[in-house]
Amino acid sequence: MIEAPYPELDDLLKMMGEAGRHLADIEASEGAAGNISVCLRWPIEPRTRFPLISEIELPQPVPELVGDTFLVTGSGRRLREIMDEPTASIACIVVNEGGLTGRLYTSHHRRFERVTSEFNSHLAVHYDQICASNTNFHGIIHAQPLHLTYLSHIPRYQDEHYLNTHLLRWQPETIINLPEGIGFIPFQIPSSKELMTANIESLRTHRIVIWAKHGAMARSDVSVKRAADRVEYAETAAKYENLNLSDGEIGEGLSPDEIRSICRTFNVQQNIF
Ligand SMILES: [Zn+2]
Repeated sequence: MIEAPYPELDDLLKMMGEAGRHLADIEASEGAAGNISVCLRWPIEPRTRFPLISEIELPQPVPELVGDTFLVTGSGRRLREIMDEPTASIACIVVNEGGLTGRLYTSHHRRFERVTSEFNSHLAVHYDQICASNTNFHGIIHAQPLHLTYLSHIPRYQDEHYLNTHLLRWQPETIINLPEGIGFIPFQIPSSKELMTANIESLRTHRIVIWAKHGAMARSDVSVKRAADRVEYAETAAKYENLNLSDGEIGEGLSPDEIRSICRTFNVQQNIF
């Protein structure tokens, strides 16, 4: 939930750009990989930046979100380039009466045909989270962090308990920022209904989820940069884990007792350790 004064359209575009650049900097968005969307529920005027208007069918009905606005990256756009010219890479969608269709606002500078092919998952998770918490803001990032994704190819890390007890042991910040740990979805075809359904489910109880052999999705109801931070915390943990594997597993990591002490001190509720 964001308190007033609410960010303006340009502020949101800038933050999406900064998040995109940072994801590229940490090797989580090669080529045109990854996508970003935000949902905001206060009134804004899209036409200042997106004067072209058309109509689209939404991937699913969202009757509770009538009048709400989405900013979504375009298919095939590079996250690292959003910053240079946000309206070339981002579309704005306002949900129409009834919640089945939306007005698609785009710019004359638009360099994409359609919004990201993962918009079905983005919309489904926004919808699920907003209906549950009634937040006025929700941001989602899909990125492909190298080390985290690599670990998802190793069978023993495909077990959520094993994954979390091994990744959350390298820095005190990790459990503080990801107290529910990292969710895990077995491999699903990109953009599929199965991936969408699994995202809804896992992101109900986690702030970030790994898509096995593909990447990760993170959310935040505070800012899109906070969602990017969550990708970075998980990726940093995975870097430590990979480092430890390549060094013959000589690092001991924080012990469960040490992690429990950190949680007591910082009042973190967790049930992983
Ligand atoms: Zn992807």
